[in-house]
Amino acid sequence: MKAEPAVQRQLLDLAKVDAELTRVAHRRRTLPELAEIEDVEKRLRERRDALVSVQTTASDLERDVAKQEREIESVRARAERDRSLMASGSVSAKQLADLEHELETLARRQSVLEDDQLELMERKEAVDADVQRTAAEVDKVEQELADARKRRDEALADLDATQARRESDRERLLPRLPENLVALYERVRAHKGIGAALLKARRCGACQLELDRSAISEIKAAAEDEVVQCENCDAILVRTLESGL
Ligand SMILES: [Zn+2]
Repeated sequence: MKAEPAVQRQLLDLAKVDAELTRVAHRRRTLPELAEIEDVEKRLRERRDALVSVQTTASDLERDVAKQEREIESVRARAERDRSLMASGSVSAKQLADLEHELETLARRQSVLEDDQLELMERKEAVDADVQRTAAEVDKVEQELADARKRRDEALADLDATQARRESDRERLLPRLPENLVALYERVRAHKGIGAALLKARRCGACQLELDRSAISEIKAAAEDEVVQCENCDAILVRTLESGL
């Protein structure tokens, strides 16, 4: 294949644009914010699960406290009724003794229930503090996630802008190059990643291999409009004064 040396040199501009497009695509896949977001999302799920768990414990305890309250209330009402009966003077001596006995039992029962109630309320207080703390943690991690997403979106917007600039550079460069040369360039790039490179000081700018004596003499012997390729990586080798020939 043949192409004017000036045309061949334009392949270097195209290769530079494509290298940047490759960097943009790589950067897009490997943004540190992506791993960070994944990690924060995992922590957020854990904190939200923990919050649901302590909230459930808190509402169970609340129900227990209310139930205990109703029981204490019914013991109090019963004692109140007994005291009214005793005060009414309409009960026999036997009934009076029974009522006194029952009042003692009710007083003991009320004391036990109130002790339990106190313990329940202390536990409830501790769990409520847990709910508060866990909810604050959820808020904090949600904020971290929003920050990381914002930074990711900013980085992606930068990459979008760079990509758009380089794609328009590409569209500007392509029509200046012969179709068969572009086809060769694209074929090599599709297989090896880099389609063309400068031959600099006898070294291929694509694979960095230093060409051996026989390869160099073949390139030296080739006409300057001959398109030559690296024998190692197939990249089109563009010759300039820097090539060391
Ligand atoms: Zn090479």
